[in-house]
Amino acid sequence: MSKSQYNTNNAYEVLIWQLEAGIDQCIGDEPNNRFNKKAEKLESTEKKAVVEITNRDNVQSIKNNKKIGNLGSVDASDSQSLIDVNSISSNKLALNCKSLEELEAVVRGFDDCALKKTSANTVFSSGSIDAQVMFVGEAPGAEEDREGRPFVGAFGRLFDKMLASIGIIRDKVYITNTIYWRPPGNRPPTSLEVAQCLPFLQRQIELVRPDILVPLGGLAAQTLLKVDLGITLLRGQWHEYPLSDTSKILALPMFHPAYLLRSPAHKREAWRDIIALSHKLSQKQ
Ligand code: URA
Repeated sequence: MSKSQYNTNNAYEVLIWQLEAGIDQCIGDEPNNRFNKKAEKLESTEKKAVVEITNRDNVQSIKNNKKIGNLGSVDASDSQSLIDVNSISSNKLALNCKSLEELEAVVRGFDDCALKKTSANTVFSSGSIDAQVMFVGEAPGAEEDREGRPFVGAFGRLFDKMLASIGIIRDKVYITNTIYWRPPGNRPPTSLEVAQCLPFLQRQIELVRPDILVPLGGLAAQTLLKVDLGITLLRGQWHEYPLSDTSKILALPMFHPAYLLRSPAHKREAWRDIIALSHKLSQKQ
């Protein structure tokens, strides 16, 4: 749209056009010309990482299961999407954290993930650190970004209903995401963004040490379980998530609430999964 086309009569259309382009939040008082920063940014990125990534490849590259090993170790042998292990500064930072408080402070202070610059808040977690069950979603949306807490929007309301159906209130579980910052316009996170957050997430799981881990949706399930399967095949099956001391946590991937809102017919399977979770929890009490 050229300047001459812009006037107050079509301001509404301009807003709609922006929304459709993924611009759904004001994150600063002044417009930020990021094209001016491109050269500067590229130079520092080149020093840090050898990365060739598209938004579409993120799940594919995680599926390859070659680059992202346990505790965030990264093997840069994949020719399609190379991530230099040394570029993932979160590896060392995460391992040094001895408590959840320490980890949260480190994640909040972590500036290497580009998503932090475009988001309003770091969305670290909510719920009880003594929880028996830990849920891991994908990434914060607009409402989560505004409030700084996971699953507070429409998906969160469905999530609460799912928990309530087995008599659990949200404060009794621990909730986090695969990614701590909102991707602009809710685009899928890139493999670099996933790789940068993974060491923190793995440390978070080690420190919470729930009895049961529930990855919500394909990205969380594939990232944590390192499997090359879609959520439709992964859900409803018990898996084992390995901890660094070689012990294991039971993991039950489920459909993401966003998927259930889009495809309500699958609520039947989600219902079966939540019942399976409830049974397992009662056996562990
Ligand atoms: N979707 C997620 O996966 N996590 C959130 O926190 C919100 C929406």
